[in-house]
Amino acid sequence: MIEPIVSAVADPAGFAEKVLHWFDRHGRKNLPWQRNATPYRVWVSEIMLQQTQVTTVIPYFERFVTRFPDVYALARASQDQVLEHWSGLGYYARARNLHAAAKVVVDNHDGQFPPTVEGLVALPGIGRSTAGAIVSLAGGSYAPILDGNVKRVLCRVQCVDGWPGQTAVQKELWALSEAVTPASRTGEFNQAMMDLGATLCTRSSPACGQCPLQAGCRARASGDPTRWPFKKPKVSKPERQAWMLIACDSDLGILLYHRPPAGLWGGLWALPEYQSLQALLEAAGQFARFSDDAIQQWDVVRHSFTHFDLNIHPVYIDLNANTSCTIMDGDEIVWYSGGALPGGVAAPVAKLLNTATESMF
Ligand code: SF4
Repeated sequence: MIEPIVSAVADPAGFAEKVLHWFDRHGRKNLPWQRNATPYRVWVSEIMLQQTQVTTVIPYFERFVTRFPDVYALARASQDQVLEHWSGLGYYARARNLHAAAKVVVDNHDGQFPPTVEGLVALPGIGRSTAGAIVSLAGGSYAPILDGNVKRVLCRVQCVDGWPGQTAVQKELWALSEAVTPASRTGEFNQAMMDLGATLCTRSSPACGQCPLQAGCRARASGDPTRWPFKKPKVSKPERQAWMLIACDSDLGILLYHRPPAGLWGGLWALPEYQSLQALLEAAGQFARFSDDAIQQWDVVRHSFTHFDLNIHPVYIDLNANTSCTIMDGDEIVWYSGGALPGGVAAPVAKLLNTATESMF
C-alpha cells in the first residue's frame, strides 16, 4: 500500500528518525575530518567542500592539515604558503578568508573557535550553514545547516518551488531545516542529510528506491523528482579575453609575477597578462629583444569564473631563440624553473606552466 504523503514539517520527529536510522547503517563515518573532529578540522573541511566534491577535497584536506595542523600554524603561515596548499581548488577567496579568520581566532579568541553560530559568522568567510556544521559536527550542539546537498533534499521532500538562491526560497528552506533538525544527535543528523544528498538524492539521478524519505517525499510522488530544486535563471555570462605571456629562458626559467592580495586570483603567482597581443609584445619588448621566430601563439584556454568566462590566449616567447634578455628582478617577480612553486597558482596557469616546462627543461 502506498503511504499517504505526510509533510516533513508535520512529523519532524519521524523525519529525523528515518534519516538517523539510515545514517546508522549507511552514513559516511570515515571521512578524514570526521576523525578527531575538532572545530578547526571541521571548519577547514567545510570551507573546502563549499564548491568542491568530497573526493577532490580529501587529498587537499590531508595536505592542508598536515602542513597547518591547528589554527595557530595557519595564523602564523604566510599567504603564499596558504595559497600554495589551495592551488587547484579554485575560489581562492576561500583560502584568503580562512587565513584571515585564523588570525582573528588566534588574536581575539585565544586560539579557541567561538562556540556559537553567532560568534562564528562574525569571522571572515563563515556563513550560517558553515557555522552550523562546526557547532553541530564538532561541538554536538543544536544548529541546523543548509548546504547544497541539504537544500536539494529539502526542496524535493517538500517540493519547494523557486530557485534556492532567491531570498524568499532560502528563508523557506532555513525554516524547513530548523523544523526537521532534532535537538539530540544534531551532528549525526546534519552529516546524514549531507550524505543523503551526496549519495542518494543526487542532482540528476536520485535513487528514490533506496531513500529512507521516499514514503513522504513529494518530489518522488510527482514522478519527476529532478524538477527540484529549480535551476538558476539563465543569464548569459560575459566573455573576457586575456593574453598571457609565457616568457621562457632555459637558464632563468619562466617569468611569473605576484598578483595583488585581493581581487581575482588575489595573492596568486601568475603569468603576466595583457588586454591584447600587441600590448603583450610591447611589454615583452621592454626586457627582451626577439624575432618573430621566437613567438608561438598557443591554443586558447577557456576558464569559467562565477560571473564571466575568460578566454586565455597563451603567447610563448622562447628567450633562447635569437633574443637578448635583461634580467628582471624584484619581490613581485620570480623566474620559475620547475619544481616547487613560489606560492599559489591558479589551475589554468599551472597547466600552461607544466606544458612550458616540459618543452623547456
Ligand atoms: S525520495 Fe528521491 S527525491 Fe525524495 S529525497 Fe529521497 S532520493 Fe530525493
